Amino acid sequence: MGGEYTLEGRALVGELFEEQKVALHIRDGVIIEIEERHTVPERWVCPAFFNAHTHIADTVAMDIDAPGSLAELVAPPDGLKHRLLRTTGTDAMIHAMRGTVDVMRMTGTSGFADFREGGPAGVAALRTALGGSGMDAVIFGRDGGEADADGLGISSVREHGAGTGDLVARARSAGKMVALHAGEKHSRDVEEAIALEPDLLVHCTHATDRQLRMIADAGIPVAVCPRSNWRLGVASSPEFPPIRRMLDIGCNVVLGTDNVMFVQPDMGAEMSFVSYVYGLEPATILGMATAGAALAGASYLIAEQNKAHFITVDGARGNALFSKNIARSVVNRLNSLSFEGTILN
Ligand SMILES: [Zn+2]
Repeated sequence: MGGEYTLEGRALVGELFEEQKVALHIRDGVIIEIEERHTVPERWVCPAFFNAHTHIADTVAMDIDAPGSLAELVAPPDGLKHRLLRTTGTDAMIHAMRGTVDVMRMTGTSGFADFREGGPAGVAALRTALGGSGMDAVIFGRDGGEADADGLGISSVREHGAGTGDLVARARSAGKMVALHAGEKHSRDVEEAIALEPDLLVHCTHATDRQLRMIADAGIPVAVCPRSNWRLGVASSPEFPPIRRMLDIGCNVVLGTDNVMFVQPDMGAEMSFVSYVYGLEPATILGMATAGAALAGASYLIAEQNKAHFITVDGARGNALFSKNIARSVVNRLNSLSFEGTILN
C-alpha cells in the first residue's frame, strides 16, 4: 500500500510488544505517528516476522520418502537434497521457491535470511522467485554465489578445511556478510566458527555456556531453529538449543525454520513450538521472531519512523474475542486465528 492511510486496532507496540489501542498513521510505507485511542475496531496488529534461517530451495524435496537419516539427506555435497537440487531444472526450482515465498507471506513473514546453494545461478533463481513479492530477503550464497548475494553462507567451518579463512576474507573484502552453521550436533566446531567473526551463527544447539558467553561478548546473533533440531534428532528437550541460557547470558537470539524439505517456514508454528517447549514470555518469543530483520537493515517493530511491516488479525472472528492477552494468543495459536493479511508497507 502506498500513499497515506490509518490503521486502527489493538497493536503490539515497541520492543516490549505492549498491547495498546492505537491509530497507526502510515505515509509512504513509514509509521509516522502512533496515536492512542479509547475505542478501536476488533483488529489486532502485530509486527510481521523475520525468518532468520531458511533453505527454501529444499522445497523441491518437500516431505520426500527417503531411506537414511534426515541429517544425511541434507549433508553437502552429496546428500539427497543436494543431488535433487543439482538435477532440478531452473524453472521448476523457481516455481517451488515462489510457492514457499507465498507460504511465508500467507503466514505473516515479511523477510527471511536464506542459505542458497547452487552458486551464482542459484542466487539468480532465488531473486527471480522473489520478484514482486515485496519480501526483505537476505541471501547467503556459496560456491561463488556470494559475489551476487548479500553474504557468504558456510555449511560448516570444517567443510572447506584450511580454505575457510580465505573464503571469509574474500567475502569480507567484497563487503559481504558471513553466516555459518555451528554447534548443531556437538560443540566442537563452535569456537572455530566464532573466530571467523561472522554476522550470524546458525543453531548453536550444543554450544557450551562458555561458548555462549563468547558469542554474546562478540555480539553475534544466533539463529535457532528448534523444530528442525527436533526433527533431525539433535534435540529432545529445552536444553537443546539452550534458548533460556542464551537469553540469560545475553545472546541476541533470532528464530528460523531451517530446511523447507522437512519444516514448513511458518513462524506462527515455530513460535508456538517455542512457547510450549520453553515456556518463555510472549514478548520474548515475538522479539526472537522479529529481531532477525536487523540482518536486512530493518526493524519490524511497531514504532514511529519504522517501516510498516504488520500482520493484522480479525479480532471478532472465531474465539479471538475471548483472548485476555493478544500477544500470548499470537504466539500460541496464530495459525487458527483469522489473518486479515500481511501489510508490508
Ligand atoms: Zn541450515
